[in-house]
Amino acid sequence: MRVRVLGCSGAIAHGCRTTSFLLDDDVLIDAGTGVGDLTLDEMARIDHVLLTHSHLDHVAALPLMLDSVAARRLAAGAAPLQVHALPGTIAALKVHIFNNLIWPDFSAIPSVDAPLMRFVSISVGEVLHVGGKAVEVLPAVHTVPAVGFAAASASGHWVFSGDTGRNPAFWQRINQLPVAQLVIETAFSTREHALAQRSLHLDPGTLADELAQIAPGRQYPIYITHTKPAETGQIMEEIQGFDQAPDRPQDGRHDIRWLSAGQTFEL
Ligand SMILES: [Zn+2]
Ligand SMILES: [Zn+2]
Repeated sequence: MRVRVLGCSGAIAHGCRTTSFLLDDDVLIDAGTGVGDLTLDEMARIDHVLLTHSHLDHVAALPLMLDSVAARRLAAGAAPLQVHALPGTIAALKVHIFNNLIWPDFSAIPSVDAPLMRFVSISVGEVLHVGGKAVEVLPAVHTVPAVGFAAASASGHWVFSGDTGRNPAFWQRINQLPVAQLVIETAFSTREHALAQRSLHLDPGTLADELAQIAPGRQYPIYITHTKPAETGQIMEEIQGFDQAPDRPQDGRHDIRWLSAGQTFEL
């Protein structure tokens, strides 16, 4: 399976795009502003969008991409784009975005029977079979209903935390999975610890507590995502500070790396 990082920033700025990952050609994990870097052909090949939650930085490009590919997909007789999300996420999208005020309701265009988009409800623990891939829905702890995902590949699972605060159930589950790569958020620096707590995100200190739950002896690359552009340097320094501290035992260190848009991984 190929994982292409379209966006992995916590906000927009020149060179910073919000959360979106493309699995092979046809499955999109979140639809942040990174989707805007895809060509029309690439966008039109996406058959499934899996959403972690309803926040704008993860869904902003969904209504826009539907508009971009509508004519092509209709001309090709393509099946409706399937948008997989928790019932609470789907309800929020219907009420606040696809409400014919902010954007047309693409689940009824051109007709209710043959629309351009169809919502599919998911639940935590379920394994979705999309585009020939098996993707497990993982728990997340956020201010709105939220999930993470684990996509099975030949070399193990590609695991994505989604937006989350402290999340013991997540570690319980992924400690049982062969993990090829973990992508985990650290939205704020230590200075913003109170804001991170309130908005249910991680900061370097809570990330350290979370990583301590990885079962002994398990090592895999850990990629940091969702850093706020203004704080990225600070967050990275602080993470390195705790993970590479001289008094830290060698087996307590992790293989922590920085994620950037444009990276592609073959798993
Ligand atoms: Zn969020
Ligand atoms: Zn977010």
